Amino acid sequence: MRLLLVEDSGRLQELLGETLRQAGYGLDLAGTVADMLECAASVPYDLLIVDLGLPDGDGIDAINTLRNNGFNKPILIITARGSVDDRISGLDSGADDYLPKPFNHGELLARVRALLRRPGDLSGPVLRFGSVTVDEAAAEAHSGGKLLDLRLSERRLLVVLMRRAGAVVAKASIESALSEQGRELSSNAVEALVSRTRKVLVDSGSDVSIETVRGVGYVMKTIAK
Ligand code: CA
Repeated sequence: MRLLLVEDSGRLQELLGETLRQAGYGLDLAGTVADMLECAASVPYDLLIVDLGLPDGDGIDAINTLRNNGFNKPILIITARGSVDDRISGLDSGADDYLPKPFNHGELLARVRALLRRPGDLSGPVLRFGSVTVDEAAAEAHSGGKLLDLRLSERRLLVVLMRRAGAVVAKASIESALSEQGRELSSNAVEALVSRTRKVLVDSGSDVSIETVRGVGYVMKTIAK
């Protein structure tokens, strides 16, 4: 997942940048409207985080411009302008969510995760993370071009983790995501699925790993190769 943070305060760029990178997101920084439009035109970002008060213009106008140009990925506004009217005009400009400053970094990450898992806002029919791609329509997963030998339930596990890559996904939410109606998945079954999927990833030489967060769940990360 690659994000663009548009923020003119160097201090906030640094603080928020650290939070987002630690959460596993690829991140680029822009400090002006001009930078933002240039970056968004050249890199297929999964999400934009945009401050409204920028030195060369207003973030709302910039978001309008992007939407008019067909940019269809989620946009989260972060701004000190927190009145109801400000929020309404922000959302009317084409932003998907609005976080008034100051905010808790945990809440920022939660909003980002929520926006990234909205159906229809995924990067097309093919999901990507690191060397791994999952084409749900074709029912296939690849790593570095190699077909991964995964069963349906393992591929679905991969999708659940990829959609929230970098964030810890609770075991219970994996259980409910993979349970079919009338067929509950046990927590042992989740462990077995994770362990086999993990082995397939390792065997394929993939740069993606599934780490266990003891007592909580699992997190998908890229590993340096
Ligand atoms: Ca500003």
